[in-house]
Amino acid sequence: MKFKFNLTVQIFLAMGLGVLVGLLVHNHLPSDPEAELPLYFDLIVLVGDIFMKLLRMIIVPLIMASIIMGVVSIGDLSKLGRVGGKTFTYYFGSTFLAVIVGLIVVNLVKPGVGFPTQGEPLEQVTENEPPSFLEIIEDIVPTNIFAAMAESDVLSLIFFSLIFGAVLTTLRDKAKGMIGFFEALNHVMMKLTDWIMRIAPIGIFALIAKLFATVDAGQTLGPLLKYMLSVVGGLLIHAVITLPLLLWIFARYSPLKFFSKMLAAITTAFSTASSAATLPVTMECLQDNVGVSKRTTSFVLPLGATINMDGTALYESIAALFIAQMYGIELTLTQQCVVFLTATLASIGAAAIPSAGLFTIVIVLEAVNFPAEQIAVGLGIIYGVDRILDMFRTAVNVWGDSVGATVVARLEGETLKA
Ligand code: ASP
Repeated sequence: MKFKFNLTVQIFLAMGLGVLVGLLVHNHLPSDPEAELPLYFDLIVLVGDIFMKLLRMIIVPLIMASIIMGVVSIGDLSKLGRVGGKTFTYYFGSTFLAVIVGLIVVNLVKPGVGFPTQGEPLEQVTENEPPSFLEIIEDIVPTNIFAAMAESDVLSLIFFSLIFGAVLTTLRDKAKGMIGFFEALNHVMMKLTDWIMRIAPIGIFALIAKLFATVDAGQTLGPLLKYMLSVVGGLLIHAVITLPLLLWIFARYSPLKFFSKMLAAITTAFSTASSAATLPVTMECLQDNVGVSKRTTSFVLPLGATINMDGTALYESIAALFIAQMYGIELTLTQQCVVFLTATLASIGAAAIPSAGLFTIVIVLEAVNFPAEQIAVGLGIIYGVDRILDMFRTAVNVWGDSVGATVVARLEGETLKA
């Protein structure tokens, strides 16, 4: 515990230092985008990238080993169904609440009203058609498990691991060797996470320094400020009121204490903007600091990192309505209900990687029959500030997953560390 506390302090100091160095470097970077960047800046970027890669490197074996062992240790399949039922109910419930908060905020603040609609269309949107929800469902089943591993296709890996674990459960003695293998792999991956976390302060420092060195404050603090404040405000309401209430009501756990125990995961989420990359840290904090069993974390968390994105869902509803308001379009109550449902689905479909939530807004706006060019221009306008908002929404995504795992653990009768 002492080490974890120190780690949290180190991460905080690293973030502060990152902000400071980033701001200093900002003034020394050439304004010409073609110009060569100084070596020290390249080094900062390199360190940040390596840290992200180290985290992503362990996701595939970690997810597979932990879900397979999670299913095996839950034991019988009906019990697995029960835990699964609670997990899905919590995830859908909390995401619905997040979208409701988003819709209330955007309807009250109206950040898009009167906003000029000139802007560059976002190329990725004009070039790529987003997958429909049915296609996303179809993609869950992999044709080739090794291809799914190579592409870090997390939903497919979860699907495969659940079935694989279920088969091992029914075979038991006949598959003893295989169960032992995944048990060992699980231990190895957690140990590796431990090691990577020791250098987290350096990685987080580099990521934050790079962000502050490159972000254009003029654009960020300019016209989009009201929009940004609506998103951050909505996220704060969900993170500080809704989720703590769920934690207190269903898990009887002090939100403040929980927050301090989860801080390393939340700051990692904030600086990497990827729930998937943060997954190893989230698992470790919940197991070591909060005392949630491996059985629960290994099943509930990988699923949560992939499909439970409260922050993203809330963001999608605000961004979609912001774009509609910008074009002077008032959405009717029925259309807002469509936004409510599609924002939830789009957040489930969004990958747990940086910027994924930005592109799935297309799904929400298309559902209310928004013309494709207007969607592309709208996204082009909010693109510039997306990275910063991504950091906030990813932190809320991970905070939501952690609360979810703790609630499920408590409902399963687990005793947690005080
Ligand atoms: N970056 C987010 C995550 O990893 C997804 C998003 O873009 O909203 O959780």
